Amino acid sequence: MIMIGHIARHAIVVAIFAAIGLITSHDTASAWGNQGHRVVGSIADRLLKDTNAARNVGEILGTDLRTAGPWMDCLKAVRRDDNDTYSYVVDPEHLDYEVPCTKFKAPEQRAEMIAFVKRNWFTCRYLPDGVHQRACHETYHFDDVAIQRDRFDRTVEGTNPHDLVAAINAAIAVLQDKPAPPPFAIASKREALFMLAHFIGDLHQPMHVGSVYLDAAGNRVDPDATHPADPTTETAGANFIQDENVNLHREWDDIPTDLGDAATRDLIRDARSQPATPGSIEDWPASWATETLGVARQAFAGLSFAPSGPQRWTVSFDDHAAYLRTQDTIKRRQLARAGAHLAELLKAIWP
Ligand SMILES: [Zn+2]
Repeated sequence: MIMIGHIARHAIVVAIFAAIGLITSHDTASAWGNQGHRVVGSIADRLLKDTNAARNVGEILGTDLRTAGPWMDCLKAVRRDDNDTYSYVVDPEHLDYEVPCTKFKAPEQRAEMIAFVKRNWFTCRYLPDGVHQRACHETYHFDDVAIQRDRFDRTVEGTNPHDLVAAINAAIAVLQDKPAPPPFAIASKREALFMLAHFIGDLHQPMHVGSVYLDAAGNRVDPDATHPADPTTETAGANFIQDENVNLHREWDDIPTDLGDAATRDLIRDARSQPATPGSIEDWPASWATETLGVARQAFAGLSFAPSGPQRWTVSFDDHAAYLRTQDTIKRRQLARAGAHLAELLKAIWP
């Protein structure tokens, strides 16, 4: 299956469901809630304390990584109207989305967000004819690699040139004084740092990297082998899979409540014990995606799916209590890894 085709179908499905009010753009691309992104940034802040990297972060952002973590999600409040005018619109139905974004509510900061969105809205090519399907920057948050794959690889279904791994590589390039590869339009190191602070978090949320592909009956299929990805059975990164009142993607976005929204002593200890990533910095995002893909395999273990309507699935669990325990453990480990990897990356950029 060609890479670009999948995202096009995904975008069409998203558009249809957004139109009828079943989902919003937040449903499809907000890995970890703002608490998770703050925790990841906070861990990195602690690991980088008194380093050259921390000095650069402070100079460029004027704030810490904990505050910067949710910035990319705040961009979802930037809307484009039919006159091609972009504006920042607080959603009255979801004032909770706005909580982490109040840090960026000064007019010049809103203007900065609008500028990024405008520059990155029409840059993706989803179909061979270039028909626009969805704001390009909203695709930067995820991949949908089938959990049958043993590694992240740009040739497989669920990846594309404007996916999560590509976005992280683009941000790294800018921070290394190199041009951002297209389609990314990154105007400054400040934007690149906002991207990294967020996307390294997303890269460790298993539902933002690995995905199940289903047939019409809800059986797992392999989109890279016998069953080319089918838009009618799309799960949209588990956003279309319901576990009672919450979708499975959202369930994974929520972090254990005792963590609050900052690094805890346990998370910092776990982050400090992460092994150094081998290889060169350009290969780290793909290698971390491979690691998260393995985690996604665990996150989908013991689950069965049944169709419950058009583009709607319900999940059942072999052992729900055991699943919730595993989920809690995985979330803590992934947050610690994300914080450690963000710090590792910034130290490599600013030794
Ligand atoms: Zn995200």
